[in-house]
Amino acid sequence: MSAVIQAPVKENEIVSYNPATNEEVGRVKNFSAEEVRQAVENSRKAFQVWRKTPFAERRRIVMRAREVILAQMDEIAKLISDEMGKPLAEAMSAEIAPVLDLMQFFAKNTEKMLRPEKRNIGLLGLMGRSSKIIYKPLGVVGIISPWNFPLSIPLGEVVMALMAGNTVVLKPSELTPVIGEKIAEILEVARLPKNVLQVVSGDGKTGSALVDANVDKIMFTGSVATGKKVAERAAKTLTPVVLELGGKDPMIVFADSNLDKASSAAVWGAFTNSGQACSSVERLYVQEKIAEKFTRLIVEKTEELQQGPGSDEDVEIGSMSSETQIKIVEDHVEEFRKSGADILTGGKRNESFKGVFFSPTVIKGANNEMRPMREETFGPTLPIATFKTEDEAIDLANDTDFGLTASVWTGDLTRGKRVAEKILAGTVMVNEVLYTHGIGQTPWGGFKDSGYGRTHGKEGLMELVAPQHIHINRFLLTPDVWWFGYSKNAVETFKQMSKTFSSGSVFRTLGFMPQMWKRIKELTKKKGE
Ligand code: NAD
Repeated sequence: MSAVIQAPVKENEIVSYNPATNEEVGRVKNFSAEEVRQAVENSRKAFQVWRKTPFAERRRIVMRAREVILAQMDEIAKLISDEMGKPLAEAMSAEIAPVLDLMQFFAKNTEKMLRPEKRNIGLLGLMGRSSKIIYKPLGVVGIISPWNFPLSIPLGEVVMALMAGNTVVLKPSELTPVIGEKIAEILEVARLPKNVLQVVSGDGKTGSALVDANVDKIMFTGSVATGKKVAERAAKTLTPVVLELGGKDPMIVFADSNLDKASSAAVWGAFTNSGQACSSVERLYVQEKIAEKFTRLIVEKTEELQQGPGSDEDVEIGSMSSETQIKIVEDHVEEFRKSGADILTGGKRNESFKGVFFSPTVIKGANNEMRPMREETFGPTLPIATFKTEDEAIDLANDTDFGLTASVWTGDLTRGKRVAEKILAGTVMVNEVLYTHGIGQTPWGGFKDSGYGRTHGKEGLMELVAPQHIHINRFLLTPDVWWFGYSKNAVETFKQMSKTFSSGSVFRTLGFMPQMWKRIKELTKKKGE
C-alpha cells in the first residue's frame, strides 16, 4: 500500500498535499483562536461601511470577481483538482460553471429580492395602519466549509452574504486551504474593500473559535457529527446556525424507465467526485423485474470508467480526498461483504497510483438492515437493493435518518411527481440526479439529520438578512380600543371584536363599528376627565 500523507496541521502552518500524488500543493497560515477573534473584530468594523455600500457597487465587485475567475479558469481548475483530487473536468463542470452562474444571478437580483415589501394586514389597513418589511444585513457571517466542493460551496455562500450587505469570515477545510486563500485573492483582485472578506485557515479548532467569536450567523457545511458540535457551541452565544450536513440519498428506478439513461445517471450520481458529494447516490432501489438487466448495465458502464490523477483531462474518477475517507469506504465495503451482499466490481483500493484511489464499486443484494445502507459512506460505492411496488420503494427511500436529496426514475411523469412528493428530502428530482446544488436560484438544504436552514435561492438569501417590520399608524388622534381603561364596555368591545373584526370579513366588521365608537368615546372621555 502506498504511503499517504494527510494534510498536517502544525502550530502555525498547514501543509496541503495532492491526495493523488502526495506532492505538496502549498502552505498556509494556521489561525489561532485569538487571530480568529481579531478577524471578527476587523470584520465588524468593515461592516459599518460595507452595509452602506450601494447594491450597484456590490454588484460591480461580484461581476469583476467573475471576470477574475474566467481569466484564471484553467489555473483554478487545476488547483481544485490538485488539492482535492477531483478530475479537471469536474472542477470545471461542478464548481466553476455553477458558481459563476450563482454569482451573476445574485449580483443582478439581490437588490430586487430584498426590496422592502408591503404586507397586507387585513382590516387594520382600513384603520390607517400599514406594515412594511425591510431586510437588513446581519453583520458578520462566519462560513465554515468542507473540502468536497472547495470552491463552489464557500464562494457561493460568500457572494450571497456579501450581496446582502454582510461581511464574512470564512474558515475553509484544512484539506483544501489553498483554494480558500484563492477565494480571498479573487475578491481582492475584484477590489472588494479590505476586511469585508477574511479567510482564516485551520482545522476544527479554528472553526470552533469562529463559532465562539459571537458572529451574527454561522453557515456550516460538513458532517452530522461536527454539525451537532457546532449547533451546541453556537447555542451558548445564541448564534443562529444554518446546517448543511450529510446525506444517504436514494435513487428509485421503476421498470418503465429509460434504462440506458437511468443506468448512466446512477453511475455518474454514485461515482462523480469519487462519490464524495453530499447528494451522491448512496442507495439504489430498482424494481425487481428489471433488476438483473439494470445491474448488468451499471457494471458494464462502471468498468469503462477511467481512473487516475484528476489533472489528466480524460480521467473520470480521481483520487479520494484523504486516508481517513478511504478507510470509511473500506470499512463499509467490508461490512457489505460480511452481511452477505455481492461485490460485482471494484471493492478495493486501486494500487496503480500513488495516492488514495478506490475503485468504483457496485454492490448487489444490499438491504436497509445493513449498516452501510444507514451511514453516509462518502465514497465510490453503489449498493443496489430491489423493490416490488411503488409504496415499498417510497418506504425504503424514507427509511433513513437523512433527507438531503432523492431521485425517482420513471417513464410516467405523473407517477414521478406523486412519488417525489412522498419522499422526505430537501430536493427530489424526477429523471435527474445529484446536480441541483448547481442551481443557485433554488433552495438547498435537508430534512431530518441532513440539517436545517437553507443556502441558495431566495430562502438562502433570507438566512443572511434580518427582516424588520416597520409599522405605521396614520390615525394620530384616536386611542386604540385595547389600551388601558378596562371596563364592562371594554370587555364587550373585545368580545365583539373577536367575533367580527377577527373574522377578517369587512361585512361582519361593519356591525362592530357602533361598539367600537362607544369604546373610543369612553377612552377619550376618561382621558378628558
Ligand atoms: P467535517 O464536518 O469534518 O468538516 C467540515 C468543516 O468543519 C471543516 O472546515 C472543518 O475544519 C470544520 N470543523 C471541524 N470540527 C469543527 C468544530 N468542532 N467546530 C467548527 N468547525 C469544525 O466535514 P468534511 O469531512 O469536511 O465534509 C464532508 C461532510 O460534509 C459530509 O458529511 C458531507 O455530506 C457534508 N457536506 C454537506 C453538504 C450539504 O450541502 N448538505 C455539502 C457538502 C458536504
